[in-house]
Amino acid sequence: MFNNSIPTFKFLSYRRLQAGSLCPMGCNEDEYLHHISNSCSKIKDVFGHLNNWGFAIISCHSFADRCSWLEKKSSFIINLFCSTIYLSWKNRCEMVFGKTGKSPLSITTEAIGIASSLVICNHQNSGQLVVNQQDLLYKSWHPPPPDWIKFNVDASLLCSYKGGVGGVCHDHRGRLLLAFGRSCVHWDIAHLELLAIKTINEVFKDWMLEYNGIIIEGDNINIIKLIHKKIKAGMEGMEYLSFTKNFNHVICNWVNRDSNKLADLCANYAILSSFD
Ligand SMILES: [Zn+2]
Repeated sequence: MFNNSIPTFKFLSYRRLQAGSLCPMGCNEDEYLHHISNSCSKIKDVFGHLNNWGFAIISCHSFADRCSWLEKKSSFIINLFCSTIYLSWKNRCEMVFGKTGKSPLSITTEAIGIASSLVICNHQNSGQLVVNQQDLLYKSWHPPPPDWIKFNVDASLLCSYKGGVGGVCHDHRGRLLLAFGRSCVHWDIAHLELLAIKTINEVFKDWMLEYNGIIIEGDNINIIKLIHKKIKAGMEGMEYLSFTKNFNHVICNWVNRDSNKLADLCANYAILSSFD
């Protein structure tokens, strides 16, 4: 982008390598640098999700404005912005070549995953605390051991009894593998906290079987105690935890709310709509 060498349709048509210069995503506007990084309907949807999750990606008038906006941002937001543009451009190219595109939500979660793992790497290498948005999400979150995966789950409930359960799954590099949320209606937050763990069974994928161990973390101490008791008593009546049978090691952990912020975001987002 900074070298103005992305082969957008305007770039290509100027060089007589492409017939039209309109955005192939159906925006009815020329496809050029500012369009793909700001005004395209596809990128706007992704920014919409990021803004709902509190990342504040503003709309800019020109690419030059975008550059000066980026200069004032933390390394996490710069990573997040660049990852978002990279992934949506990649997605656009796949669609141009006839593949089915990814949803804006899946591009959003993937971009957060890439930006998060970059900051976690920096964090681990430097041994210093990085003061940026990342610490909001990972104040004391620790990655699982190599070849393990870790689920963080949470629930959220409004006075209207509209609720949501959600969670995220990471590997030992801190890479986000999966995010999910289910909206529901209930009056008991404890019921929802348990439902959040049960939902793991629903979103469990076959490729997770390649991992040796699984850690499940939640911030409700009573629910975590209940699961511990059931595991000790031989898992009777715990069919909803059947996915744990696939692993040699299962750990169920209580963490404080600060370490569970990303799962909390998913649970809150799920109040609006379910997602995977
Ligand atoms: Zn467009």
